[in-house]
Amino acid sequence: MTAATPALRPLTLEIIAVPNTGPLSEEPTNAIIVGTNEVFIVDPGDEAGIALIPAALASRGAVAVKAILLTHTHPDHALAAPALGQRYGCPIMLGPQEAPVMREYLDWSTVDHPLVGGMTLAVDGGHLEVLATPGHTPGHIALYAPVTQTLLAGDLVAGHGTVGILYPHGKMLDYFASLRLLQGRDIRRIIPGHGQTLTQPPDLFGQYLERRTTRERSIQAIVGRGPTTVEAILPELYPALAPQSRQAAVATIIAHLEKLRDEGHVTADSADLAHALWQASA
Ligand SMILES: [Zn+2]
Repeated sequence: MTAATPALRPLTLEIIAVPNTGPLSEEPTNAIIVGTNEVFIVDPGDEAGIALIPAALASRGAVAVKAILLTHTHPDHALAAPALGQRYGCPIMLGPQEAPVMREYLDWSTVDHPLVGGMTLAVDGGHLEVLATPGHTPGHIALYAPVTQTLLAGDLVAGHGTVGILYPHGKMLDYFASLRLLQGRDIRRIIPGHGQTLTQPPDLFGQYLERRTTRERSIQAIVGRGPTTVEAILPELYPALAPQSRQAAVATIIAHLEKLRDEGHVTADSADLAHALWQASA
């Protein structure tokens, strides 16, 4: 006789829009409370989350916070984590490869527990699967609730527009691999790090891959015409670039070039990728 495996409960997901003060402040961050009376807090957001999350939890009566899970450590996702970790006496969990990003933005230097792809996290009668999805940052993770086939995507997916894959922390090669991994999954609902929940998005990851591949081919074609620099590629690729978007555009081009270099298509004459002379591989 075999004991029946108890059915997993669908997890309740409450989204709290936490305003942020950073350069990407047009859209609040989606902080997510996973579970009902035993919960995970995913991406508590900027400092505003320190008050907003407890206010949301207070209406539920007795709640045990098991852990704070961070998709990555950009300040608009993570700044509220240390204060909430202290308040609830719970660990903060994140991908160990986030260390270089964390050092840049946050003043706590230890990970309470690592979040690694393949882990299963039990909470409130259900569970979340941890998916390693590097690219936006080196240790970015996404969380998948299997019963409702819901992806908590962090900054892997944008509510609108595109996600920043910005050199040096952003790695285009990793981002492509992460998109391909998710393309192979049955996902009915996506909660992005910012913006509206996407329901049954038709081949969203395929579209993301296509858009990035088109951009990559344009860059490869420009480099193919003769040795060139990021400065020279910039106006060709973005003819109507707003001054405030310049820095991100430069970092995006370098991220594409770095991928092309790692794949053997182009070479740089210097380790200073922003100022190197780029040419097609012989
Ligand atoms: Zn981010």
